[in-house]
Amino acid sequence: MSEQVIAIDGPAGSGKSTVARAVAQRLGWSFLDTGAMYRALTWEALGRGLDVHDEDEMAALASSVVLTTLPRVTVNGRDVEDEIRSEEVNIAVSVVAANARVRSCMVERQRAMAAAQPVGTVVEGRDITTVVFPAATVKIFLTASLDERARRRGDEGEDSVARRDEVDSTRAASPLRQADDAFVLDTTGRNVEDVAQEIVQWLKSRSST
Ligand code: C5P
Repeated sequence: MSEQVIAIDGPAGSGKSTVARAVAQRLGWSFLDTGAMYRALTWEALGRGLDVHDEDEMAALASSVVLTTLPRVTVNGRDVEDEIRSEEVNIAVSVVAANARVRSCMVERQRAMAAAQPVGTVVEGRDITTVVFPAATVKIFLTASLDERARRRGDEGEDSVARRDEVDSTRAASPLRQADDAFVLDTTGRNVEDVAQEIVQWLKSRSST
């Protein structure tokens, strides 16, 4: 059991998942992609024909589904790793993630998942440094230009990326924002290994002080 956490937040396409994975691999820690949890829940809701704006229905679904993110993203035992990146999910996920009751259910699971890991966990999302793990060992806020973020998101397109960022940053429940004590890294024009190395070095310098 471990409470060691590297918390990474940032907008869509800022490099959170790839950087978090690379950092976890270098350290031999676990990795938790919390966006995949909101996406898997959204995919399940759409598949059941639920109205994602119906807060009660979505909160009930959030508390009843079985979700995993590693080694694959699954919901109620079904592998949805590829399906959760669809356009339908891109459109609906920010609505689902704005539901405060859905969030508290996901946050509880995220904390339990990290607490159960043997060494430490690199956790990435939108509210990880501010709400889920405000006392994380290291807090990082990744940014990048909209142009580059849209390029990284490929098929999603700049308009959709910008729209999700707007909804995620202006919602009432745990909006995306930079924590005061987060280390800010602009990943524009930088490669994953380089950014991951900087974070690992930062962790090491913190643990040696
Ligand atoms: O990181 P990713 O782009 O896969 O996240 C998908 C969506 O999930 C985000 O646009 C946001 O609405 C939601 N999300 C969130 N809080 C998190 C992680 C993701 O609200 N911690």
